[in-house]
Amino acid sequence: MFNALLLTQDDAGVASANITQIDDSQLPEGDVTVAVEYSTVNYKDGLCLSPKGGGLVRNYPHVGGIDFAGTVEASDDPRYAPGDKVVLTGWRVGEVHWGGYAQKARVKADWLVPLPEGLTPRQAMAVGTAGFTAMLAVMALEDHGLTPDKGEVLVTGAAGGVGSVATAILANLGYDVAGVTGRPDTEGYLTDLGISRVVPREELSETTKRPLEAETWAGCVDAVGGPMLARVLGQMKYGGSVSAVGLAGGANLPATVIPFLLRGVNLLGIDSVMQPYDNRLRAWKRVASDLPMDKLEAMIKPAVLADLPQLGADILEGKVKGRVVVDVN
Ligand code: NDP
Repeated sequence: MFNALLLTQDDAGVASANITQIDDSQLPEGDVTVAVEYSTVNYKDGLCLSPKGGGLVRNYPHVGGIDFAGTVEASDDPRYAPGDKVVLTGWRVGEVHWGGYAQKARVKADWLVPLPEGLTPRQAMAVGTAGFTAMLAVMALEDHGLTPDKGEVLVTGAAGGVGSVATAILANLGYDVAGVTGRPDTEGYLTDLGISRVVPREELSETTKRPLEAETWAGCVDAVGGPMLARVLGQMKYGGSVSAVGLAGGANLPATVIPFLLRGVNLLGIDSVMQPYDNRLRAWKRVASDLPMDKLEAMIKPAVLADLPQLGADILEGKVKGRVVVDVN
């Protein structure tokens, strides 16, 4: 028997979470059983933990946790053997398949990657889906020609998970990083991560009728979407690119096509869930080499399974700073 944070639904369709003892026979089908060491809390975890499952969880009882790191306990797949350290992000684990909020998980071997060299399971989950996606976003900007000499790079939702990791990576790579935050009290934290200036959220949250503003940003990692992304598009330098990662500020995009047509701006979609295996390995390798581990350590808020319902609610309200690391044991 082992512990899981089990989500169950009442007759009114409202889900609640309780730490429950379950056994191996209750785990879903899969090739590899993993003794989970750490999981984390991403924005999507907040949705899955919410009373209606955020439109993502279809079946209850359910175990959330969209990512985890741990040690292979049993494997029917030749790529993994007991004792191997592994990481999982994406593939709708924690949404439609049981995830990492338990001491064991059973998944498809295709969904796993070996723990990247140079990272511990705890560090891998401090990065987690949010940080892995931040790396994908930076790689996409680089693939579209961004280099530190091109000018200032903006990170929106800077004090959140995606934003914190993107900031630390970009600053370490030599970029001049500006960060948008709605929490002025995080300025010291962001400065320590390497930000050179804070842009108050109010400055970019109002819509404008002007499709183009002063050319300001050479690149942007956007975790916010909505009206803020529309404003950022109009402020991009000629030929600059925006990696669209998130929707913490809304899914609508009240923009015009003018920045694309007159300034050759690129809007790059970033999806972490279905990333091909080779690009996952590339991104994790880059995380291990380009994210300073002391900066990662400064982002960590430690937690245990019992903290998750509250943390899930907090992240949906934009109250979580940096990255939560959940020790499931
Ligand atoms: P966090 O909550 O940790 O970060 C989001 C940040 O956005 C907040 O910390 C806050 O930053 C800012 N924010 C919150 N609400 C608003 C608002 N109404 N207007 C403007 N800014 C706001 O979440 P994550 O970092 O885990 O995820 C960020 C986004 O990225 C989410 O939308 C998530 O779904 C998405 N995502 C997408 C992935 C993909 O594959 N495309 C993978 C991972 C995440 P501050 O306080 O500094 O203003």
